[in-house]
Amino acid sequence: VSRPVMRAAAPVFDRTISDEFSVGVDFGGTNLRFAAYSPKDGVLESVTLPSRVKDGRDAVVADMCAGIRDLIARHSKSRKLKGIGMGSPGPIELPGGLLHDLPNLPGFGGLELRATLEKNLGTAVIIENDANAAALAECFLGRGKTLGIDSLCMMTLGTGVGGGIILQGNILDGMNGFAGEVGHVNIWTDGLRCGCGGHGCTEPYASATSVRRAAKDAIATGTAPGLAALAAKNPDFTPRDVGLLAEAGDADAIRIFENLGQALGIALSAIVNTLNLPLYLIGGGLLNAWDLFAPALFKELRSRSYIYRLTEPSAEDLRTHREGKTYIEKAELGGDAGFLGACLLPFTTWPEARR
Ligand SMILES: [Zn+2]
Repeated sequence: VSRPVMRAAAPVFDRTISDEFSVGVDFGGTNLRFAAYSPKDGVLESVTLPSRVKDGRDAVVADMCAGIRDLIARHSKSRKLKGIGMGSPGPIELPGGLLHDLPNLPGFGGLELRATLEKNLGTAVIIENDANAAALAECFLGRGKTLGIDSLCMMTLGTGVGGGIILQGNILDGMNGFAGEVGHVNIWTDGLRCGCGGHGCTEPYASATSVRRAAKDAIATGTAPGLAALAAKNPDFTPRDVGLLAEAGDADAIRIFENLGQALGIALSAIVNTLNLPLYLIGGGLLNAWDLFAPALFKELRSRSYIYRLTEPSAEDLRTHREGKTYIEKAELGGDAGFLGACLLPFTTWPEARR
């Protein structure tokens, strides 16, 4: 089996095709999101089900297959099925879709996801890391499309920190499907333990989980009255709650997002210096805190990245998006990026190229 480093050169995603549709699935620890999609008409239908992770992997696979069959049955009367795409939490080994032990999905390690789905459905399924799928969607349907840029790196700040790299419209998978794991770029020599088993990774400093942890740490010092009051009122406080406190001027809450921006800036310095891409996107649930973390991010980036200093856009460039500059911006598709990327997979790759 030849091991792909990039997905096969894609025929240009053709938006005029109206009689074909795909089914995309975004497999998450909380939800299974399904959509039927046509390049010309966009999302034809979308369905969200809870992921029955507690009931075990057979139950989840059964729900996936039932949801896929349902959408195929409803839309294949008027259109031809182009294929089925699925985004799954990583690490997932490609092209076979072998899941490794996932912190948020206990019991799924060792599951041959693609083979299992194909056996159940009797048809080909294209599997991709969910963060790679999200980056693909941002490239063809989101910020990349808006700016006319076909190469980008996206960081998704959610429960963890996901990453995906798109080069000239193709997903960079690497040899095993493990490329683009920017959440595990090391930023501190002696840092916090990470869910991956390492320490000093970006993820424990720049995820939703990290905001809650930092808030609890600050409360434990006894010198963060605003955060302590928040936690007393609502023990299940969210990163958004901490963000609102910061926006209201609470110095301890503000510091949490400054530290997060610093961590992201250090990680991005390494990535920008390595890749020299035109566009780096930040997405995921923490994006609404952009104004709180971005100043520290850019400060760090300017001081650490030689390549960024050489290519930093001027205020004018930020309006016109002149070529040859490094743009670091917000992703556009929000929580839809994952399932939209899954929907695009059958249109931008050919399943046979992955075997
Ligand atoms: Zn890690």
